[in-house]
Amino acid sequence: MPELPEVETVRIQLWSKLKGKTVSGAKIFHPKSVAGETAFARKLKGRKLQEIDRIGKLLIFKFVNTTDLYLLGHLKMTGQFFVTDKTGKLVGGGGHTLSTETKELPDRHTRVSISFEDGTILYFNDMRLFGYLKLTDYAGMEMAKSRFGPEPISVDFDVKYFLTGLAKRGTSIKAALLDQTFIAGLGNIYVDEALFRAKILPHRLAKTLNKKEAMSLAKHAGKVMKEAILLGGTTFQHFADTDGTKGGFKDKLKVFGRQGQECVRCKSIIVKTRVAGRGTHFCPSCQK
Ligand SMILES: [Zn+2]
Repeated sequence: MPELPEVETVRIQLWSKLKGKTVSGAKIFHPKSVAGETAFARKLKGRKLQEIDRIGKLLIFKFVNTTDLYLLGHLKMTGQFFVTDKTGKLVGGGGHTLSTETKELPDRHTRVSISFEDGTILYFNDMRLFGYLKLTDYAGMEMAKSRFGPEPISVDFDVKYFLTGLAKRGTSIKAALLDQTFIAGLGNIYVDEALFRAKILPHRLAKTLNKKEAMSLAKHAGKVMKEAILLGGTTFQHFADTDGTKGGFKDKLKVFGRQGQECVRCKSIIVKTRVAGRGTHFCPSCQK
């Protein structure tokens, strides 16, 4: 599953290649990927991209002078976007790193392609078919957005909301941070990293955090994600160049995937266990 920094990186990538372009057509290779929409191409044709927005891990494609049509995109477990220019050359995109190499597009994992008037084509590949490109109206877009809580990277992130929310929760702090309706965008990797930096144990009950700890956690969650965005995420591959560069944040991980190794802070051995149903990494000495 991608996390916010990965999706934000993809958003920036796609926008740099698709900015202001007008849709000329679309092809559906698998109906599930467009939620069975039969008029996908007809509805999109002639629409000019105004913005690619994002909330949590959901991408929202917006069009000029259009308030009745939005395109929602989610990469889920195996989604990938590829952009080719008018000569068919791969010029951008991003998504999950998969063992199967994509050489020519469309390929057997291509589910949707959207072409633009200048010959650019956006391909949506999704091996396991959990992702989607879904057309919706204004109400549908607003409803999709309303399912997400605030993001710790937003400048107006409300620490008071965070504190009162934690106090009401009977779950572990890790489960609370993974709940996208409470806080949007944090997934398994960045939750472990944020808790490590804030020196809080992942299995602590959310409501036992004091104000100082909660503020420190909010600060570190935001910082971890901003750093990861700058480095292009952790788990994703970007397809801008032919050999593909991988997310650079992998080298900055302080606790995730470091089980059995020494803690960078106190030299204790990092432990891996399961919390909230997810593989969870922490230092048993300096996280409290
Ligand atoms: Zn430690």
